[in-house]
Amino acid sequence: MPNPKRRHSNSRTGKRRNSNKKIGKSSLSVCSNCGASKLPHTVCNSCGYYKGVPVLEVGKKKKDEK
Ligand SMILES: [Zn+2]
Repeated sequence: MPNPKRRHSNSRTGKRRNSNKKIGKSSLSVCSNCGASKLPHTVCNSCGYYKGVPVLEVGKKKKDEK
């Protein structure tokens, strides 16, 4: 039977995948128009504004998209 020759050090155990979980967490910013949380540098999902300018028309039916 193959056996590990040496015991892992505590630091080597700590370097594994789960310890890197927190690093990739995406940040949220607050919409300046409606105050909802949204991804930074994206159009707000709830009001359709970006940088104070209405980009999307939210609340209307989306029949034309498909
Ligand atoms: Zn908004």
